[in-house]
Amino acid sequence: MVFQHIEEYGNHEQVMFFHEPSVNLKGIIAIHNTALGPAIGGCRMWPYASEKEALIDVLRLSRGMTYKSAAAGLEQGGGKSVIICDPKHKTPELFKTFGRFIHSLNGVYITAEDVGTSVEDMQHIRATTPFVTGLSEQMGGSGDPSPFTAQSTLVGIKAAVSYKLNRESLEGLKVAVQGMGHVGGYLAEYLLKEGCQISICDIFERKAKDFQEKYPQVKVVDHQYIYDEDCDIFSPCALGSVISVETLKRLKCSIIAGAANNQLDKLEREYDLRKKNILYAPDFVINAGGVINVFVESQGSYTKEEVQKRIAKIYHVLKEIFTRSEEERKNPTDVAIEIANNRIQRKL
Ligand code: NAD
Repeated sequence: MVFQHIEEYGNHEQVMFFHEPSVNLKGIIAIHNTALGPAIGGCRMWPYASEKEALIDVLRLSRGMTYKSAAAGLEQGGGKSVIICDPKHKTPELFKTFGRFIHSLNGVYITAEDVGTSVEDMQHIRATTPFVTGLSEQMGGSGDPSPFTAQSTLVGIKAAVSYKLNRESLEGLKVAVQGMGHVGGYLAEYLLKEGCQISICDIFERKAKDFQEKYPQVKVVDHQYIYDEDCDIFSPCALGSVISVETLKRLKCSIIAGAANNQLDKLEREYDLRKKNILYAPDFVINAGGVINVFVESQGSYTKEEVQKRIAKIYHVLKEIFTRSEEERKNPTDVAIEIANNRIQRKL
């Protein structure tokens, strides 16, 4: 059953199961591909309903990291880890023990933050292994990756606007941003600086209202109605699977470009987007700013300028994806996966 899942979700190089009951640690590290360099990918802590669910999640996420890093031109591979535990029960000892398991892999896998883990948890892991990124700025790390993810999303929006609307400025464009969390908040600020008119929402409406108090020109929309907004660009920055048959009927935009992972409820949904003449910026390409940030940190000489230089390249990668997608009549995500796979093949 385990090998069947590994085959189904991408023929991973190595999958490690670890268990240390004394600190309530149980989890999986999945190393998908290391052709371009060590596998980097965050550690997700989640109370998975079953071990099978955890395995499928880590296999799927680690494969996505391979594509994300390869498409962003990074010299690193794809991996991910999951810890089966409610983040309410996390302890420093649990992370220190997790660090020992990471260390036993000799640098083939490097971890970072993900859902349920924080900068503080990374510091505990650092006590037992150097193979961890996303450390605090005081510890020589790069801190919160969200502003960089928002930056790459902005660069991606500019590439999509240039390709689809044939203009270089975002001035006056209407953007609907779904989710006012870490990334959505930064992105909304950047869009305002570019002169966009923005509508925002969050399931916790207070977050959107707080943003509006700072920037009264934004429009706050009930989160259920964000899909009905009259806009040029719809920017999902909350959870995944938000583009479905139902929401697609309501969307009025000509571009979907946002930071959320796995925005489409299924990959085949991209055929419907093309039929509706909506340009879609593949999520793992546009949201790569965060992983670019930890990659530069892992190289040991971190500067924000280096991160920004690498983020700027996403503009050209996306333009190539859009052009090839039209010329070859393929979905943008399929083209992006081809670009990633070609880079890996050239290295093998
Ligand atoms: P976050 O948890 O800080 O923010 C998500 C926000 O979305 C929260 O405020 C939440 O209340 C809101 N939300 C949830 N469901 C919603 C809904 N249906 N409608 C409106 N709002 C809703 O997370 P984040 O770090 O900002 O990440 C946002 C997305 O970007 C996630 O999908 C994440 O996987 C992806 N991403 C984040 C990074 C990063 O650097 N943080 C990097 C790559 C990808």
